[in-house]
Amino acid sequence: MSFVQIQCTRCKTVFRDRAGRLQDGYSRQCPSCEVVLFFAEDSPNPQVKLAMRRARKARKGQRETEGARASAAQPGASFSRSYAGRTHGTEDGE
Ligand SMILES: [Zn+2]
Repeated sequence: MSFVQIQCTRCKTVFRDRAGRLQDGYSRQCPSCEVVLFFAEDSPNPQVKLAMRRARKARKGQRETEGARASAAQPGASFSRSYAGRTHGTEDGE
């Protein structure tokens, strides 16, 4: 899971949160001054918008990595299927 940097709108402390959480409607407290930050697509705060944009990018990158891993696993699956078929055929012959 990737993390995204967020700058507090009040005390300017920079902290991190999971990219998967940073979506429209999410809210969390600043670990330093404890102000509650609301994450909305139409937020007037540039720091919130920047964090949401980074989170969206991080989630997109993660999906592409997962997709590459899934397609890479397919040749192995078809190989084990054909191997199992060969073994079965030998048993039939004997
Ligand atoms: Zn703060």
